[in-house]
Amino acid sequence: MLPFIPFDILYSASGKRTVLVADDEIINREILGVILGSEYDLLFAQDGQAAFDLLQENRDTLSLVLLDLNMPRMTGQELLRRKKADPLLQSIPVIVLTTDQEAEVESLRLGAIDFIPKPYPKPDVILARVQRTIELSEDRHLIRATEYDHLTGLYNREYFYSYAEQIDLHHKGTDMDAMVIDVNHFHLINERCGKAWGDGLLQRIAARLRAAVRAQGGIVCRRGADTFLVYCPHREDYEAVLAAASRGLTGAEDAAAFRVRLRMGVYSRVDKALEMERRFDRAKLAADTVRNNYSRSIAMYDDALHQSELYAAQLTDDFYEAIAQNQFLVYYQPKFDVRGDTPLLSSAEALVRWQHPKLGLISPGKFIPLFEENGMISALNHYVWRAAAAQIRDWKERFGIVVPVSVNVSRTDTLNDQLPDIISGIVEEFGVAPGDYMLEITESAYTDDSDHIIATVKALRARGFRIEMDDFGTGYSSLAMLSKLPLDVIKLDMTFVRNAYGETRDVRMLELILGIAGHLGVPVVAEGVETAEQAEGLKALGCEIIQGFYFSRPLPPDQFDRLIAERVRVHSEAPSVFGKKSAPAPFF
Ligand code: C2E
Ligand code: CA
Ligand code: CA
Repeated sequence: MLPFIPFDILYSASGKRTVLVADDEIINREILGVILGSEYDLLFAQDGQAAFDLLQENRDTLSLVLLDLNMPRMTGQELLRRKKADPLLQSIPVIVLTTDQEAEVESLRLGAIDFIPKPYPKPDVILARVQRTIELSEDRHLIRATEYDHLTGLYNREYFYSYAEQIDLHHKGTDMDAMVIDVNHFHLINERCGKAWGDGLLQRIAARLRAAVRAQGGIVCRRGADTFLVYCPHREDYEAVLAAASRGLTGAEDAAAFRVRLRMGVYSRVDKALEMERRFDRAKLAADTVRNNYSRSIAMYDDALHQSELYAAQLTDDFYEAIAQNQFLVYYQPKFDVRGDTPLLSSAEALVRWQHPKLGLISPGKFIPLFEENGMISALNHYVWRAAAAQIRDWKERFGIVVPVSVNVSRTDTLNDQLPDIISGIVEEFGVAPGDYMLEITESAYTDDSDHIIATVKALRARGFRIEMDDFGTGYSSLAMLSKLPLDVIKLDMTFVRNAYGETRDVRMLELILGIAGHLGVPVVAEGVETAEQAEGLKALGCEIIQGFYFSRPLPPDQFDRLIAERVRVHSEAPSVFGKKSAPAPFF
C-alpha cells in the first residue's frame, strides 16, 4: 500500500515543517541547528538507532531527514536500507551528509534524494537544498494523491483510464482484455465483520490482483467500493486470476467462518474503437450476470449480452416518449379472499406492461430491473400510481363498489422523503381513501436500509395507507423481526408455494410462516398460486388471500370489469357476506 500523507499534517503546530538532523558529532548538529532553526522545527539524533526511532515515531509529520552516514549503533546506509523496506517510511525524503564520494552514489541507490558535502557549504546553499527537496517531495505526494486510491494504493479510476489509453497507444497490435472483479454481498460483509475488516479485505484483494496481472503488463484500479478493474494483454487463464485474487479470503462472524466470494466479468479482446469506460461497462455487465451465483463466478461478455445491452439501450432511449404517449398499460391481477366457501374478489395488484410500437407487449421483468438501475423507475411508478388511483375511482363510479388496489413501490421511492406527500397527493386527486390504496414494498428494501424505510413506512401508515411486504422470504428479515416492522400484510414469495407443492411436497415451511403470521395477527397473501391443490392446501393452512394464475392472470382493466360485475352479482344475491350495500368489500 502506498502511504498517503495529507498536506495539512506536514506542518507542525508552529506552522513549520519538521526536519530530523541525524549526526553523531555535536558540532555538526549545532551548525545545522543554527542554519535551519529559524525556518524549520528540528529533531536531533546522535546515533543511527536513535535516528531510526525518531523516524518511526514522527513518520506522519517529518518533511525531511538530514543523515550522516558514519554513526554508531546503526550506520546511515543501514537506516536507508530499513527505511526503503518500510512502506510507511519510504516516501520521507533524505539528504545525506557526507565527505565520501563513493558513499554518495551508494546512498542515492538506497533512496537518498540529494547530498550535502562536508565540510558544509554556505548556509544559504544548505537552506536552498533543504527547501527544494521538501518541495519536490510534496509535489510528488500531491501527484500520488490524485493518482492512487488511498485505501488500496491501486490507481484511481481517472488515472487508470488514461494509463490504459497510453497502453493502447504504445501497443497498437496487442489484443487487450478488460475485466471487472466484484465482491458478492460486500455490504453484508461490512455489516457482519465491520468496516475495518471490509477495508482490510479490499486491500488484500487489491494486492493479490495486482500481483496476479503485473507480470503480463496488466494494470489494476478500484472503481467504487468493491469493484476492481483490470486491463491487461489478452490471456485465457481467467480462472487463475480469480483464484489468485480470492485466495484465503474468509471472514468470521462470531465463531462461524464464511467464505468471501468474488465474481468476475471479462470483455475479452476489447474493441479499441470503443471508449475505455464503455469497455469496462461491458465487463461489468458480464460480471453482474453471475452476481451471487454459487455455481459460476466468471462470465464473458458475448454476443447475447451485446444484444441485451442494445435492447436495454433502446428501452432506455424510448422511455420518455413512451410515458408521454401512454404506451405503458396497467394490468390488474385479482386477489381472492378464500376464507369463506366461495372465493371472493377482494382486491387487485397493479402490474405494468409496455405496449411498445416496435417490440410489442413487453413484460415488466424485461424493463423494471433496468429502470431500477438507471433511476427511471420513479417516473414509471408515478405513472402507474396515478393510473391505479384513477382506476379505483372509475370502478367505483361504474360499479358502485371500491376495489382496493395495491401498487409496487421501489427501493428508490422509499428513500425519497417526499413519498408520503406524493402518494397522498395522488389519492386525494382521485378521491380515493388511503385505506383502499395499498403499497407493496419488497422485503429486501427493508433489510437494505431499515431505519430509513421504517420511518417512511410509519409516515405512510400514519396517513392511512396499508403496507404489504412483498416477496417475503427472499430477503434476510427473520420471522422474529416481523413483529417489530411496521406492515399490514405479508406477501409470501412464490417460491414458497412452488417448493411446498413441488416434487417433495413439503409444506412445513409454509405451515411455520402462516403459523407465526397468524400468531402475530398479520394476514398473509400467497402469490403465484397456480393449481386447485395449492389453493386448497393454503386455505387449509390458514392463508386468507390468494393471488395467482389459478384464479386469474393480470388483466387489462376492461377484462377485469367482468370480475367486478361477478362480485357485485354475488353481493346482491348474498348480501350477508358483504354487509351494507356499496360499502367497500371486507379485506384482510
Ligand atoms: P411482483 O410484484 O412479485 O408481481 C407478481 C408477479 O407474479 C407478476 O409478474 C405476476 O404476473 C406474476 N404472477 C402472478 N401470479 C402468478 C402465477 O400463478 N404464476 C406465475 N408464474 N406468475 C404469477 P409480472 O406482472 O411479470 O411482474 C413482474 C415484476 O415486475 C413484479 O413482481 C414487480 O416486481 C415488477 N413490477 C410490475 N409492475 C410494476 C410497477 O408498476 N412498478 C414496479 N416498481 N414494479 C413492477
Ligand atoms: Ca408486487
Ligand atoms: Ca411479489
